[in-house]
Amino acid sequence: MGVCLQGGEFARKVKKFGKSEIVVGGMETQDEKILRAARILADTQTLMVFTGAGVSAESGFPTFRGKDGLWDQYEIQKMATPEGFVQDPAAVWEWYCWRRGLVLEGKPNPGHYAIAELERSFEDFLLATQNVDNLHRVAGNEKIVELHGNIFAEKCTRCDFRRWSEEIYTEPPHCPKCGALLRPDVVWFGEPLDPKDVERAWSFAERADTILVVGTSAVVYPAAQLPEIVHARGGRVIEVNLDSTPVTLIATVSIRGKSGEILPKIVEHFKAIS
Ligand code: NAD
Ligand code: ZN
Repeated sequence: MGVCLQGGEFARKVKKFGKSEIVVGGMETQDEKILRAARILADTQTLMVFTGAGVSAESGFPTFRGKDGLWDQYEIQKMATPEGFVQDPAAVWEWYCWRRGLVLEGKPNPGHYAIAELERSFEDFLLATQNVDNLHRVAGNEKIVELHGNIFAEKCTRCDFRRWSEEIYTEPPHCPKCGALLRPDVVWFGEPLDPKDVERAWSFAERADTILVVGTSAVVYPAAQLPEIVHARGGRVIEVNLDSTPVTLIATVSIRGKSGEILPKIVEHFKAIS
């Protein structure tokens, strides 16, 4: 059984194996894990951050899975598949406009701001997000790949027309170029990711020393491969999530808690020691 270790005793029980640290024979407190995460960051040159819906939960934007998740209230087949859109474009647009409204009312939370601070601290940095809510950009991140698109982007279902719109529609919008229906420019289930995004994120994961994985259930592929790629090369994996996930099994350090509370603490310690 694990025992709770304090300060120096804990430090003696952490052994270094190459670049990874393995905790031997004890349960760490949350504060000790936060410190260990900060030390890993201080020993990192190339940092990848990988986020999911959980990072936006504290901004009032519902996650997909879990208690009060969007999938409890809406049927995935109707709202987030190309077939659902063909069947009922008005219902799909209504749902996306409701979510646009939430985003326009919501603000980034301290978790988003901590990730923006990490971008400023690392020259070699990339944020890969599964979120479509734009909040990372509002918080200040610029080196960002939006793997599943952006809720304010729209594209034509027939021609190559694309635009940015923050409008809340009462009717599905049409293409000003060819008249066909416009659709949200997000990646629906069963659709491939944009090859340019895949190339950028996957090649970065191939060389990242560390990946910080925040608020994702890590079950939507191919995005969920990113922590596996970093881990397979011997890189460190830091996880921040309310629950355990498949990433927990490969994490160098896995911290249970709200990203808006944990990430600012990690960044504060990291800045103090680096
Ligand atoms: P998910 O809903 O499957 O999982 C959310 C995860 O976040 C869970 O593991 C949960 O334990 C954790 N979590 C919840 N609140 C948290 C908090 N405050 N701090 C830390 N962790 C917290 O979300 P996912 O993994 O991103 O699922 C992928 C799909 O969901 C993607 O396709 C994405 O486009 C879509 N999605 C995006 C948004 C958004 O843009 N904000 C919202 C819902 C769903
Ligand atoms: Zn068109």
